[in-house]
Amino acid sequence: MPQRIAVIGAGVLGLAVAQSLARRGAQVTVFDKSYPGSGTSQISYAWVNANGKDPLSYHQLNAAAIDEHKRWQAAHPAAARWLLETGTLEWAAKTLTRQQLELRVTKLHTLGYPAEMRDRATLLKTLPELRLDPRIEQGWFFSSECLLYPGLFIASLLAELRAQGGQLISNNEVIALNESAQEVRLTLASGDEWRGDQLVLATGRWAPELLTQYGLDLSMTDANRADPVACSFLASTQPLPVQLNCNLITPELNVRPDGGGRLMLQALDLDQHADPARPVAVDGLIGRELLRRLRRLFINCEGARIERIETGQRSRPADGLPALGYVSTSDRVYLMVSHSGMTLAPLLGRLVAEQMLSGTASPMLSAFTPDRLLRPLSAVAKNAPAYLPAAQ
Ligand SMILES: Cc1cc2nc3c(=O)[nH]c(=O)nc-3n(C[C@H](O)[C@H](O)[C@H](O)COP(=O)(O)OP(=O)(O)OC[C@H]3O[C@@H](n4cnc5c(N)ncnc54)[C@H](O)[C@@H]3O)c2cc1C
Repeated sequence: MPQRIAVIGAGVLGLAVAQSLARRGAQVTVFDKSYPGSGTSQISYAWVNANGKDPLSYHQLNAAAIDEHKRWQAAHPAAARWLLETGTLEWAAKTLTRQQLELRVTKLHTLGYPAEMRDRATLLKTLPELRLDPRIEQGWFFSSECLLYPGLFIASLLAELRAQGGQLISNNEVIALNESAQEVRLTLASGDEWRGDQLVLATGRWAPELLTQYGLDLSMTDANRADPVACSFLASTQPLPVQLNCNLITPELNVRPDGGGRLMLQALDLDQHADPARPVAVDGLIGRELLRRLRRLFINCEGARIERIETGQRSRPADGLPALGYVSTSDRVYLMVSHSGMTLAPLLGRLVAEQMLSGTASPMLSAFTPDRLLRPLSAVAKNAPAYLPAAQ
């Protein structure tokens, strides 16, 4: 009898594990309260990297995930390309940030992560429309890094899920989950029930909601608050005559190709104004500032306009690291929540599926068990530290 497994959440993490479970013979049903990719996964910068990701265990997980993405894309030659193997160019202007970048590069070299110096002339040759700040003498090229088109990636995961006999049920919220020694049971907003052997909670920033069903408090950054750790503006321009063919991290602006000549813009220092409750207009203060910075960076952008600007809400465990593992005594309910999900999805999809079907966790996951972020709800009122009793 194949295992019957439900995945709650059709973002990149939920779909990655769902198709991986189905490929390994499980009978998989994915539930989403809205539609695939409607959560954090549809508003993401989607830079696939292991750059500046501490501690070492997290760097190694992300570095392995870059390779997994490349293998996965190569295994689907007929699919629309979701992975752009472009690399990232980065430079810094001020002395302090330049020193920090050089320190990071030295550390990445010791880890065997590709980082090559590019002199000013090479930067100008690589990016013909660049207006390079006269202070910049060099930049760094991280050749293994990639960019992702989330929509195409999600489509490929869904196609794989369906090809393996998996099922997707959209627009149906899971409102309750119960567990016994024999099974897990989900109650849906439609009134239907699902019963099976295991489930994956891949509900991103909504994960704490269903965990309260277990009497557990999961410590996550509150993505509904105006908080630059949780929220970030992402803007997309109209098509522009700029030949940008890689990811660009510069002092004022992060820029990446966004399809058809469009550029995606992000400026982390502006995120102190990001508030999910207050959407910003494309021609408002933030949009105009992003365009000013873009014009300082590239020629040919005099008439540039922003087509859309959104406030992304991160799905981020409180310490910034993934939370991956069983949260129930009977090993039936698996939590899968992480920032950097665009980078990590294919690798985590495979590792979590292997763990759920074999009972053995990969050593790569051992640093990320969720117990460090969980505590009984009864302890929250008493302000107790986050912990999960050893039995769980
Ligand atoms: C501004 C920004 C920039 C980012 N940049 C990068 C980057 O450069 N590189 C990178 O690797 N990552 C990046 N990320 C992170 C990455 O986008 C996320 O880690 C990833 O999208 C999370 O995917 P997910 O599947 O966990 O969550 P989601 O995509 O949020 O999916 C969760 C799903 O669960 C569903 N759901 C919730 N509750 C229920 C319920 N009760 N019943 C049924 N369905 C439910 C929701 O509808 C949703 O579809 C960025 C994120 C943001 C916000």
